Amino acid sequence: MGLKVAKFGGSSLADGIQLTKTKNIITADPARKYIVVSAPGKRYDGDVKVTDLLYLCKAHIENNLPYEQVFQVICDRYMAMAINLGVTVDLFPEFEKIRQNLQNGASSDYIASRGEYLNARVIAAFLGYDFVDTEGLIRFDAKGRLLTEETNEALAEELKKHESAVLPGFYGTTPDGKIKTFSRGGSDITGALVARAVNADVYENWTDVSGFLMADPRIVSNAKPISRISYKELRELSYMGASVLHEDAIYPARLANIPINIRNTNLPEDTGTMITDGVDHGDQVITGIAGTKDFDVIAIYKNMMASEKGFIRKLLTILEDYDVGVEHIPSGIDNISLVVSKKDIEGKIDDIVDEIRRKLAPDTIEVFEEMALIATVGHGMSARQGTSAKLFTSLAEAGVNIRMIDQGASEINIIIGVINSDFEKAIRVIYNAFVE
Ligand code: ADP
Ligand code: ASP
Ligand code: MG
Repeated sequence: MGLKVAKFGGSSLADGIQLTKTKNIITADPARKYIVVSAPGKRYDGDVKVTDLLYLCKAHIENNLPYEQVFQVICDRYMAMAINLGVTVDLFPEFEKIRQNLQNGASSDYIASRGEYLNARVIAAFLGYDFVDTEGLIRFDAKGRLLTEETNEALAEELKKHESAVLPGFYGTTPDGKIKTFSRGGSDITGALVARAVNADVYENWTDVSGFLMADPRIVSNAKPISRISYKELRELSYMGASVLHEDAIYPARLANIPINIRNTNLPEDTGTMITDGVDHGDQVITGIAGTKDFDVIAIYKNMMASEKGFIRKLLTILEDYDVGVEHIPSGIDNISLVVSKKDIEGKIDDIVDEIRRKLAPDTIEVFEEMALIATVGHGMSARQGTSAKLFTSLAEAGVNIRMIDQGASEINIIIGVINSDFEKAIRVIYNAFVE
């Protein structure tokens, strides 16, 4: 029969109607024994996710604004769902406890995590499954880094005791017992950790699209579905912005060789995307395109840079001192560029540039803002001659100016930088050149 772990995203759990679809999917296959849930997502365009409402509560408290109304909206959403589904779980003591903790200065991570916690309580009762809290089971170190092996053992040990269970996604605990969340979209990671811990035959990730598409459907409306993709390709695409699956959800599944299957809660008969190792794409050159806006590029030129020992180390140390991560480092003999995320460097850029000037005395240093990065990914690219030529020619013909090129050593990825305003156009051009 096999064993399946199924994670349901916010849109699959947004209201009573969606939850009924979710229950039908779970009960249709007795192998779906361990269920990981997100907080309720958007019910319609323009609606607000519960997680965002919870962050809003915290922001109100920090700014000494009344938060009760926002908190009440959240409580009402859970109450409406419970009544709608005929679930008799008593949520009032839970709401009261959270309200108390809010007043007593609970952390942003704690508050955000309650979206998943309350949802898992309601859904466990709805399904008649055990509720298993991930608090204390998913473990982080004092610096907030996931303790993968400890987590695996703790989850495996606990889940042995439950024939079927619902677990909240998105959070775990640090050694001092405080709640810590993953980054946004992190319930996908919880799902993968649970799948590894119970040694599942498949990790199903149920969302609102019928699998991974070759490009973001909000940009390319008719993007083709990807039926099979390798862990490696998927990681490149999700890291670069294809938000369907959190990029850190791949590692635990890959480690245990568990296939990930992306499925659509609204169209459960669609087979979706299967993510495994060693995928053969036949004649297909590219597997997908993904990207993100809002990077800054610090471009540094210095004569004889290549022979100046320690130059790159000193440069990176400056960025590290300012706690800024570097996404890409395209370089030439006498020049080097640092691609950094705008939100990481905001408010620090002038100080960083000054320090680079002082410590490294470059001939010139320039900052280009408003850059978007686009990755074209596929195992088929390295074996095909002319892939880059086709990519660059198509963009040139469409009048898109390429500001940066970086071909990763993995050879399954070509990354280009364009200005933000060319982002969508560039994705459509690449898609049309390779797919249409
Ligand atoms: P969930 O709430 O179920 O976790 P997400 O919103 O995190 O769902 O991810 C699903 C969304 O990802 C889709 O609705 C789609 O808009 C977006 N998306 C971005 N890139 C892609 C892609 N390449 N293929 C499919 N969906 C994509
Ligand atoms: N609810 C969290 C978020 O909105 C985690 C998740 O949905 O995966 O980011
Ligand atoms: Mg998601």
